Parts: sequence; structure tokens; C-alpha cells
Amino acid sequence: MGETIAPQEEVSAIALASLATLAIIGGVILYKWLQYKAYDNPLLAHSFLTSSLNIKQKEILHKYFKFYNYLPKRSKDIFEFRVAKFMSLRQFIPRQMQSVSEEMKVLISASAIMVTFGYPRVFLSYFKYIVVFPDQFFSGAGQRYHKGEVNPREKAVVLSWRHFVEGYASSEGVNLGIHEMAHALQLENAITNHEFNFIDEEAADYWQRLTDLEIAKIRNGDISFFRAYAATDHSEFFAVCAENFFERPGAFAGYNYELYNCLKRIFRQDPLMLYKEL
Ligand SMILES: [Zn+2]
Repeated sequence: MGETIAPQEEVSAIALASLATLAIIGGVILYKWLQYKAYDNPLLAHSFLTSSLNIKQKEILHKYFKFYNYLPKRSKDIFEFRVAKFMSLRQFIPRQMQSVSEEMKVLISASAIMVTFGYPRVFLSYFKYIVVFPDQFFSGAGQRYHKGEVNPREKAVVLSWRHFVEGYASSEGVNLGIHEMAHALQLENAITNHEFNFIDEEAADYWQRLTDLEIAKIRNGDISFFRAYAATDHSEFFAVCAENFFERPGAFAGYNYELYNCLKRIFRQDPLMLYKEL
């Protein structure tokens, strides 16, 4: 009897082990898929986006970052996850100072995540280095003092901390962090890597046409909502518009809704609605 039962038991044990292995593999695949979906799904975010910020880091956001405070609870989970991930992908390099503090890391990362919040899988990955100076710095490239710059050759975003903080002290449409991250976003979109060509091309083309009109207006000396520096070139115009889009969306939309609306399509988000909701 034993001789006939034993092979059957062996077969069913193997079948059971195979089933268990399949179930585990299936479970892992399902978990990874849900985690991927959770990047832009507030309902899944809380359960599946686990590598988030610690309490101290969340307090920094809560204390200083208006955009984060206006987000609905579930979107806050996504924001925190994205800030944590952005930080983990970066090397923060202090210049002319001892170290880059936790506060600096969190708030600089939060600026990048605010600008990219409409793109759940974009982390500006090309720019591996964030270089922080205490104040304006002499730029070898421009042979003059800069408050910030994005340097694709060095894969770096460079910032003066003093000017970064000043940007968030008021909402007048001047914000260094937003400005440089907007440059980084445009460059990331143009650089061939896994984060490439994500901006809607039709919106980008339309943006170019609207840009020409507004730059001509500034150069003619006509009244414009934007500071004169915006007329430097297309990329500076985009960065200055981004500052206004996130800092004073109501006034921007009131000045030129077509321009604001096009930027909404480019950033895939609407700060005006966000600030209205509370
Ligand atoms: Zn610029």
C-alpha cells in the first residue's frame, strides 16, 4: 500500500509547492503593479507608497511649504512619497558651507516635486546633483554672479540658499526654486532617457506661439504681467511664467487666461483650483 501512496503524496506535495510559488510570484507582481499605480492614485497611495518621509521631514513641509498644505490628505501621501524618492535619487553637495541641512534637502526637493506633480513618474532623474551655495556664486559658464543655474553638462541644479528662501518669503511671482526646477523640467523633457518627451507636444507648440506674442509685448515696452527678464529668451520666459503659475495663479489667469491655460496643460495641474478648494 505504502508503495502506491507515496508517489501520489510526492506529486501532490510538488503541486502544492508549485502553487505556493506561483501564488507568491503572483502576489509580488500584483503588489509591484499596485505600487506603480499608486504613484498617481490617491486611494492606493497610503497603502502602497511606503518609503515616505519621517516625522521631522513632514514637519518641515508643514511649516514652510504652502502647496503641500493645500493638498488634500491623500495627495499629501503622494507628495511625501515623491519628495522622499526625489531625495533618494540625489546627491546634495554643499559649497562654501559645511553641509546641506535636512531643511534645505526637503524644501529644494519639494520645489521639484511641486513643479513635476502632474507627472507621477517624472523625478528629473537626469539631474543627479543639487549644489547649494549660501549666497550668490560666481559661475564659470556665465563669468558672472548667479543666484541659480541648471547645468546639463554637470547634471546639476545649482542654488543660492539665501535667494531660494527669499523666493518663498512672498508670493510676488519671483521664486528661484520654481524657476530652476522649471528649467530642469524642460531640459529633462528634451534629454533622451526614460523620462523623455512627456510634455504634450501640441500644448508645447501652442506655448511657443503664445510666448512669441508676450515676449514681443515686453520688448515693445507694453504693459506685461511678467518682469522684463522674462523676455530674455523662450526658456527664461517659461521659467518666469512657472514662478507666476505656482505663486500667484489667480492674478496670472486674470491677466492672460490663454497663457495660463496652456501652462496648465504643460504642467498637467492647476494651482488655481488647488488654492480655491480650501
Ligand atoms: Zn533662468
